[in-house]
Amino acid sequence: MANRHEDHCWAMVCDGPGLPLRRESRSIPRTGLGEVLVKVHACGVCRTDLHVVDGDIPASYPIVPGHEIVGTVIETGDGVEGLSAGVRIGIPWLGQTCGKCRYCQAGQENLCDAPQFTGATRDGGYATHVLADARFCFPLADSLTDTEAAPLLCAGLIGWRAYRMAGVCDRLGLYGFGAAAHILAQVAVADGKQVFAFTREGDDDAQHFAMELGCTWAGSSLESPGIELDAAIIFAPAGPLVPIALKQVRKGGRVICGGIHMSDIPAFPYADLWGERSIKSVANLTRADGLEFLTADHAASIQIHTSQYALEDANRALSDLRAGRLQGAAVLIP
Ligand SMILES: [Zn+2]
Ligand SMILES: [Zn+2]
Repeated sequence: MANRHEDHCWAMVCDGPGLPLRRESRSIPRTGLGEVLVKVHACGVCRTDLHVVDGDIPASYPIVPGHEIVGTVIETGDGVEGLSAGVRIGIPWLGQTCGKCRYCQAGQENLCDAPQFTGATRDGGYATHVLADARFCFPLADSLTDTEAAPLLCAGLIGWRAYRMAGVCDRLGLYGFGAAAHILAQVAVADGKQVFAFTREGDDDAQHFAMELGCTWAGSSLESPGIELDAAIIFAPAGPLVPIALKQVRKGGRVICGGIHMSDIPAFPYADLWGERSIKSVANLTRADGLEFLTADHAASIQIHTSQYALEDANRALSDLRAGRLQGAAVLIP
């Protein structure tokens, strides 16, 4: 069963909110029941990792962040079915669910009352090795490189779930043109939608990037494209964007909040919500979402734009994300 090539591994650890990650050498963990030990090839850097490091969302410190993990199984624990050593897999944010609560029973495992989240309540992929519950790992298409596949595992998946929540639409607005939006824009354009990209004021690079990817319009989030949107998805963690986006959607239109954390939403006139407009959040993902997204035809044809960083440069990758210095997705390579 064991197929260990090394005794030691290392990880970038966050000891508590506001603290920079530090490098820690560890012995390679042992698989528990139903777990696989995975050698990490690449791990995407998600905005949620910033929320973990900043203490904006619940996490169990010390914690190894990272939930867009691509790696190869090197050991399987007892009770693992369907995975064996040598298989390349993806490990997402949803690390485990209870399987018993009303949400799990109803096929809404993304809302589980007692979940485990990779890189927040169980150690994630800012490491050379990671343990995962085999039932929550995804197969990956061979056509994707490790670096390309990593951002699909959260930015791609959450974008997909938000996209489906946006419902029937021809004109889709995306607020915040980062990792998730650059993937989803391509999916939506391939689907025949008109995509409107809203960026920070003056972010010409992001607007240019959006147009290159086939968006119909790109501008600042304070501008109006001069046409009513059917739906808008907000990926930026800025609550003031909610009433702004609401003003751009038609009657019956939807505003979907794609982030796990957002600053407060300011008060706005009821008239802006009137007309059966709605505001919804997207929470986590289900395994069914993941399989649907990763096995769909579009998954192989999306162009993933990445900036690669060495794993030991995780702090620099996080500050570049925080400062908006990235185009596309940051990926750590151990
Ligand atoms: Zn549950
Ligand atoms: Zn994420």
